[in-house]
Amino acid sequence: MSPPEHLNLNVRGLGLSATVAINERSLDLIQAGRTMARMGLGQSPFPVPAPVVEELRANASRKEYLPVRGLLELRSAVADYHRRRAGMVSSADDVLVGPGSKELMFLLQLCYYGELVIPTPAWVSYAPQAQVIGRRVSLVPCAKSNGWKLADDDLERLCRRDPKRPRIVVLNYPSNPTGGTYTAEELARLAEVARRYGVLVLSDEIYGELHFRGEHVSIARFYPEGTLVSGGLSKWCGAGGWRLGTFTFPRDKRWLLEAMAAVASETYTSTSAPIQYAAVRAFRGGMQIERYLWNARRILAALGSTCADMLRAAGADVLEPAGAFYLFPDFGSHAALFRRRGIHRSSQLCERLLEETGVAVLSGEDFGRPGDEWTMRLALVDFDGARALAALETRPADEPVSINYLEAHCLPVLEGTRRLIAWLHAPGATSAAQQEVGEPSEGVA
Ligand code: GLU
Repeated sequence: MSPPEHLNLNVRGLGLSATVAINERSLDLIQAGRTMARMGLGQSPFPVPAPVVEELRANASRKEYLPVRGLLELRSAVADYHRRRAGMVSSADDVLVGPGSKELMFLLQLCYYGELVIPTPAWVSYAPQAQVIGRRVSLVPCAKSNGWKLADDDLERLCRRDPKRPRIVVLNYPSNPTGGTYTAEELARLAEVARRYGVLVLSDEIYGELHFRGEHVSIARFYPEGTLVSGGLSKWCGAGGWRLGTFTFPRDKRWLLEAMAAVASETYTSTSAPIQYAAVRAFRGGMQIERYLWNARRILAALGSTCADMLRAAGADVLEPAGAFYLFPDFGSHAALFRRRGIHRSSQLCERLLEETGVAVLSGEDFGRPGDEWTMRLALVDFDGARALAALETRPADEPVSINYLEAHCLPVLEGTRRLIAWLHAPGATSAAQQEVGEPSEGVA
């Protein structure tokens, strides 16, 4: 059917976001009685920390519209948080609060007139947002050999082609979808190029607190005048569904903050009041929250590393994760096998995997990679995080998280990964798989 003639050209053909679509599909399949391994949506497995929930409870009756830029107390808490964590010199006036950082990114693209530079693989929604608004996008493919990260030379080359063009460069680290992150030296080099060409860096640090060693470094340290730091409660605070995001602007970009606030005032008016009051507690931090983060990181680090090892043993090329809860394996070594099974693109591979095994993942194509690359993203989140945290609380804080612990508390993730691997080497394909991977079949099922 041709699209209705009154549909805005920019949204014709636009489907649901890949992350939202895979989640809804998985839920429908579960409803229909299917046993699923939900490795599609990247939703924190952990509960919201108890003191933050307590604060929400205490503020449930707050019903007033709050200021469009956000509650002053919250904006101060966010500025303090960035001062503590990253040494950023910012005040409440540099912070904008919104209903999720995703919405703030959309407002940014609407208000800032410039090209969006997206190093790939990249989170699924940056490019579609630009398309909806009608902005030009430059995808910069990043090399697996460079940890899927943007190299300063690549940024330099892109900027040099048209040095005066206004640009927003998106950096997301720890990365969704790869789990990798930048070193301080790499950030310093990127900052140098960004400064030379005056580009605005949108530093998406939503997974910053989930750096496994708690050593996240922001590019704002090296390029404070041009870095806009994006964060929120969704990942480190387990509160994706609460929808609270924050943008912290460089001092001389107040005009941009004001423009975004104006558009916000004409669209969503303000962010939910009870959630903002609760968020103050989250950003102020304290011992209980530190302990929660320490244990969450321990679990995610052990799980990420164990699943990465399993995938490597099955022939995948996969980065050792440094943070967040994703893996981005490349099954290029299986390409001939896939083709023999009538599979010619990574999206097709993921579709067949879902249909035949109930394992839901997203393909590399959703993250801006070519279809014939055989990459996919696994979200390692399908387990009861509250139970897992409670079990860890009873153990010494520096004890390594064992495989027995993971088998007991993160089993659906391990089983989903095993199911995926077994399917790759499924009957009928096993001998080809052995040729591709060079491993005995008993070792991989
Ligand atoms: N960021 C999460 C993901 O990549 C889910 C939320 C979203 O995409 O809006 O899976």
